[in-house]
Amino acid sequence: MPTYDSETDHFADECGIFGAYFADADDERRAQLSRIVYYGLYSQQHRGQESAGMVLDDGGDFQVHKELGLVAEVFSDEVLDGLRGHAAVGHVRYSTRGANSLANAQPLVGQSRLGPLAIAHNGNLVNAPVIRELLEDAGVMFQTSSDSEVILNLLARGSRYGLRRALSDTMRAVQGAFSLVILTQEGLVGVRDPNGIRPLCIGSLDNGYVMASESCSLDAVGAELVRDVEPGEIVIINDEGIQSVKNSERTALRTCSFEFIYFARPDSTIDGADVYETRRRAGAQLFTEAPVEADLVAGVPDSGVVAALGYAEASGIPFGMALIKNKYVGRSFIAPSQKLREQAVSVKLNVLAGNVRGKRVILIDDSIVRGTTSSRLVAMLKEAGATEVHFRVASPPVYFPCYFGIDTPSRRELAANRGVEDIREMVGADSLSFLSVEGLLESLGTQRTFCTGCFTGVYPVAAPLEEEKMAMEQR
Ligand code: SF4
Repeated sequence: MPTYDSETDHFADECGIFGAYFADADDERRAQLSRIVYYGLYSQQHRGQESAGMVLDDGGDFQVHKELGLVAEVFSDEVLDGLRGHAAVGHVRYSTRGANSLANAQPLVGQSRLGPLAIAHNGNLVNAPVIRELLEDAGVMFQTSSDSEVILNLLARGSRYGLRRALSDTMRAVQGAFSLVILTQEGLVGVRDPNGIRPLCIGSLDNGYVMASESCSLDAVGAELVRDVEPGEIVIINDEGIQSVKNSERTALRTCSFEFIYFARPDSTIDGADVYETRRRAGAQLFTEAPVEADLVAGVPDSGVVAALGYAEASGIPFGMALIKNKYVGRSFIAPSQKLREQAVSVKLNVLAGNVRGKRVILIDDSIVRGTTSSRLVAMLKEAGATEVHFRVASPPVYFPCYFGIDTPSRRELAANRGVEDIREMVGADSLSFLSVEGLLESLGTQRTFCTGCFTGVYPVAAPLEEEKMAMEQR
């Protein structure tokens, strides 16, 4: 199981989902649908690069195509030309639970009394192992090791009571983070867990609707944002439009704050909050909390740049580029040894020596997980002639693991547990400061509530007992 991206020292991305439904789809629309899903997935490629897939419903005939690889690798023109339909679901995957194998690639498809079902899932269920064991005891065979198949099986088991009851019963049984798009013969279904931990929004496009993890995906297909799916809500989209079923009585929005810090694209809006603006405000807040005299404010590309802009605006210190990212280094870039891994940072990011020579530089990153990349970046700036490097982090220290679809290193490996002064020394910076939890919440907007579990250890859903025990042992 991949853990986190050690080359960038960031939490690994999770998954992206997309769905579409067109009432009265004519031949042209049915032929275009695979391209709409393709662009919807392409714009969410940052959320998962291991596999991509889509399922189209053409009058009850479910057509499936999924492979390991990037969206552009998985879907050739020929493949897209061969897929038609009036409704679809799609998925890009980063495996948080379950191995990276084609069997685990989504959407997952199964047969039930309701006809074929296809499901695309973003998130992680904390009680999937327990439900899986119970189902296996009852004779259910699983094709994959992914917890999304648990949801598919629960839906199939409840299908004798009809779609709505099957959905409600399933949503009550599972716990954790789940945003889902489900293709059924009755229409396209969207579901968000009672805390809305992972995002899911609805857009309108001509005589149809699309759903996506992020609103940037709606922009990519020319759809207009209608609204976010509410926590605990089930929406069913069919020829009659959008029907909403409020499934859970106890809902409280607790969107993952890391979506705003790092995962989501800055041109997305999640639950009414503009990701770009929240990052800019986090940078400004960071200046209020940790000012320092310097000549240049620069961000670590890409996700530290907007916070750096906010810091520069608030401080009046000029903003500039100190590091340039190689756009063509992708998932296939392999650095086998520690020495080469260090070198790999220079291949991915290089210093603009002329911009930093003789200057006191404030370098801003969105987060520090283990601190391995940060030390290399500080060394690169100093080698290029920066007289001082002050490291500022636009999120609080990560003390705890995430159980909701984000892979985290063990507690022992998290830099935060060493203490700020130790990290500063390890990173080699002249000073180091993190944004406070209060400052983060301020930048996200105080009228909403968020999950801050990996910073505070307070989670919206109780952590799985076994994992909690393991985490305790690592303390
Ligand atoms: S624990 Fe952290 S990464 Fe996980 S959902 Fe909560 S805020 Fe997001």
